[in-house]
Amino acid sequence: MKNYDILIIGGGITGLSTAYYLVRNGVKSVAIIEKSYVGSGSTGRCGTGIRQQFTTREHIVLMRESVKIWQYWEESLPLPIHFRQGGYLWLLRSEEALNEYKNHVRLQNLFGVPSRIISREEIKEIVPDLNLEGIIGASWCPTDGSAYPQDVLDSLRVFLINSGIKIFDYEEVLDFELKSGRITEVITNKDKYSVSSVLLATGSDTKRLANKLGIDIPLENYKHQIVVSEPLKIFLSPMVVDGSLYFTQTYRGRIIGGTDTNEPPQENLDTSYEFVEKFSNELIRVFPKLASVRLMRQWAGFYVVTPDKHPIIGGTPIPNLYIGTGYSGHGFMLGPIVGKLLAHYITHGMFFLEEANNLTLSRFKEGKLIIEKAVI
Ligand code: FAD
Repeated sequence: MKNYDILIIGGGITGLSTAYYLVRNGVKSVAIIEKSYVGSGSTGRCGTGIRQQFTTREHIVLMRESVKIWQYWEESLPLPIHFRQGGYLWLLRSEEALNEYKNHVRLQNLFGVPSRIISREEIKEIVPDLNLEGIIGASWCPTDGSAYPQDVLDSLRVFLINSGIKIFDYEEVLDFELKSGRITEVITNKDKYSVSSVLLATGSDTKRLANKLGIDIPLENYKHQIVVSEPLKIFLSPMVVDGSLYFTQTYRGRIIGGTDTNEPPQENLDTSYEFVEKFSNELIRVFPKLASVRLMRQWAGFYVVTPDKHPIIGGTPIPNLYIGTGYSGHGFMLGPIVGKLLAHYITHGMFFLEEANNLTLSRFKEGKLIIEKAVI
């Protein structure tokens, strides 16, 4: 039997970022259990994007704070994470969309995010080779950007190992022992852990694990596919968004991007030719010069989605069980601030950002949903 104050289940951005902030807060008795390898879940499969262009106070404020951490991590983590503020260029094709995004920009500016609506001429200056046919403007935020997911996890892992934190990979949590309504033991396929607190940072497995504990969490897993191209000379720094299409270029020169195939929730991660075809057609429509680029790899991962497209962070009906999940397609970007918030919540019983109080599990019972409209 091993013994830890705080046991984190899940080696994605939520688990590692929370462990990072627990260490920074002086908590030493922390361990992470990961059923496969660190990054094997959605984090290692994600599209690199980091943006503040959201439509609710909660997302805007959390992402404003997360970007500050991304900047700090870029300077301070032990390995390069390739955080780059190349902006997000959100193309708009109708007057209705333009007016809607003007309102979103107003709210973003109110909370300190420097986004603005730009004209076709300015779009051309930012990405000269875009096909502007049918585009009437864009929402643009120059401080949005991207980072390289596996490099971020590797760097956090090195920080944690150097700080004496154990990461038990290839070990799966199977069950829990409870006494007087609290978790006392966590049982894996290899060992037993005596614990004071547990964080479920288990992404697409969270609903199933919480069910074992008698907690119903409104989460659904949606498959999303993504591709990367052969490496090209660097020519594109922003993330370009056009409807459900998104793409950018990684620091290694590869075009990375995806689009929605509008499939129902499911548990399989098979990839499809239909996705590649849809992505290619949409990409070539907006960026004709990429027509001859070769796509090299395709994979799929889960968006773990709540009914209001906002994450669930904080406590649960079991007093020593915490969760962080349900981010739709934006959990990588939120990872730094969510880790900081969760570490503080676990050790102090409260959030240090007012907006996070609206993101707890209890909002579903209380009917206090907050709808995010800018979902890719
Ligand atoms: P995960 O990274 O899934 O980590 C959970 C971990 O828990 C997994 O490693 C899993 O193996 C482990 N686990 C589960 N059950 C157990 C168990 N019983 N025992 C031990 N370990 C267990 N977000 C962005 O911000 N920007 C993007 O551009 C973006 N693009 C995306 C593109 C795609 C194609 C996909 C699929 C997602 C994208 N996302 C993006 C979303 C983002 O990837 C996720 O929201 C985020 O990575 C979730 O992190 P997590 O740590 O909560 O979960």
